[in-house]
Amino acid sequence: MNFGGFVPISTIDWRGRAVCTVFLRGCPLRCSYCQNEAIQTGQDLREMDEIREMIDGSAPFVSGIVISGGEPTLQKEAVVEIARHARSRNLKVGLQTNGLFPGTLESLFQEKLLDRVAIDYKTRWEGFSGLQGGYSSMPAENYEKCLKQSISLCKSAARDNPLFEFEVVITAFYENADYIKKISAEIGTTPLVLQQGEHKIIRMQKTAPDMTNGEYICKRRTLQDNHPPLTLPELKAIADELGRTVRIRTREIGEISYESDWRRRNAGKRKR
Ligand code: SF4
Repeated sequence: MNFGGFVPISTIDWRGRAVCTVFLRGCPLRCSYCQNEAIQTGQDLREMDEIREMIDGSAPFVSGIVISGGEPTLQKEAVVEIARHARSRNLKVGLQTNGLFPGTLESLFQEKLLDRVAIDYKTRWEGFSGLQGGYSSMPAENYEKCLKQSISLCKSAARDNPLFEFEVVITAFYENADYIKKISAEIGTTPLVLQQGEHKIIRMQKTAPDMTNGEYICKRRTLQDNHPPLTLPELKAIADELGRTVRIRTREIGEISYESDWRRRNAGKRKR
């Protein structure tokens, strides 16, 4: 498998659970805010036995594993094998994905290998905001088509029980508030997480071959100064437009559950 990294014990990747986290390298998207840019590309090929040993080393201290990336579902055989091995060690299995490869999800569900899925829903705005000018070489329509298929598979799995936790995560910027409304309506009752986004610029050799490290840091700082992350009140204001309960994640306070004003107002009316 093309390996991206391993965290032996993590308490932040699965709410309420200590897990180990394995990162698979490679992702066809180029989100402007990617935190794992270093493993979007490249190769670090490892034997599956090495990964199994890492999981076995963590197993006595955790109750689950999270498979993340990069985009883990890009490597179907590796993801299925990791999940099978985790199952054999009585670990719960969680997956973080952008939803681009529904075929991998289908295989995992067929063997009932997943307990939790978090789909990062990339809005059209993110795709067109990066220096790359789009979802890498992939037209946005293709991404949306695959993503909808993945969401539909997860919804069925959640309804029929093999999947216990399913959530859609949107990284929120002031530019994508309109898309968030549309996505919220589209996913219906599926739990929704609004995650505070932080602007970056992607340091791709292809797009900036001559950029020095100093120039990169300077450009990134300017971008971040011009577009600071949304504050908690700003994220709450977006949530108020959705008329539903959401979870909000920020760097400052971690994760909270937030019931929109719209809901509270209606609850107040019903009591009177
Ligand atoms: S889908 Fe995830 S790993 Fe891929 S570029 Fe976007 S944030 Fe990074």
